[in-house]
Amino acid sequence: MSHDQIFRDWINDLIQGFIADSPLNTMQNQANERAWDHALVGFASGADPIWQQYKEYIGAFHWTPWEVFNQYGSQDPAAPEELTVISWVLPQREQVRKANRRARKYASEAWARIRIYGEAFNVALRHHVVNGLKKKGRAAVAPMLVPGWTIVQSQRFSYASSWSERHAAHAAGLGTFGLCDGLITAEGKAMRVGSVVAKVSVPPTPRPYTDHQAYCLYFAENTCGECMKRCPVQAITPDGHDKEKCRQHLALSSAYVKKNYHFEGYGCGLCQVGVPCEAGIPVKAAREALERGELPPPPPPLA
Ligand code: SF4
Ligand code: SF4
Repeated sequence: MSHDQIFRDWINDLIQGFIADSPLNTMQNQANERAWDHALVGFASGADPIWQQYKEYIGAFHWTPWEVFNQYGSQDPAAPEELTVISWVLPQREQVRKANRRARKYASEAWARIRIYGEAFNVALRHHVVNGLKKKGRAAVAPMLVPGWTIVQSQRFSYASSWSERHAAHAAGLGTFGLCDGLITAEGKAMRVGSVVAKVSVPPTPRPYTDHQAYCLYFAENTCGECMKRCPVQAITPDGHDKEKCRQHLALSSAYVKKNYHFEGYGCGLCQVGVPCEAGIPVKAAREALERGELPPPPPPLA
């Protein structure tokens, strides 16, 4: 095994170990149940052309790994090819998904707890990965935690941010986008994501797709659309996800959470459960190809 592969396994163990052992991994309910069981971990090179494509598609404000690392990560500048984006997916546990399947307008208590306390753990995990790498003498930065991370108004997307965890996960081979904008991963769309940019050399995870919507039935097979029916405020239509409608519903959910669950929180995620992509890839051909470890043919060269 090469040194780079050993380092990849070390990072994977760093993440899985924190999930297994940290007391911060809790839903903060009476039974002190854990928020997460494990993570899917992927890696993308800082020199991957996909980062520049994101910038061109999302907007100039969207960082490449090189930009966020050299601005916030270290006094020691790095070239794109010296950087790796470490991305992880935290799949929602079965009982949390099950609880939210019953929800019709606002999130279940379990889902709202994960939104607040599960994400607090995800923040701690980002710090843990950065600090673990620093102890090994490797500079690292969590883009979501730097002071310059911001949300901006976008003509194309209503609003967008300087760094997108879902796009980082897509680049790291962990999933493709669905009609509702969620990322469909090997363990489904009901999940949360995190990432860190580090000056390390790790083999990139192959992307088992060339189409960024390959795992969604609506785009791959012209069927499904179940997430449209699950949304209580019709924020998902054949045109995609209306972020503003969704944001307004989330804002309203905070009063519901406080009144019914008695903590400061919010959440929805109704479109992430009770749908074919809840806990796996619903497109049979794509799922089976992934299980066989097959990669799609490379896209044709640009004319
Ligand atoms: S519910 Fe169906 S249409 Fe919606 S994202 Fe999942 S697979 Fe696509
Ligand atoms: S699109 Fe937004 S409001 Fe609609 S179900 Fe999904 S999270 Fe809830």
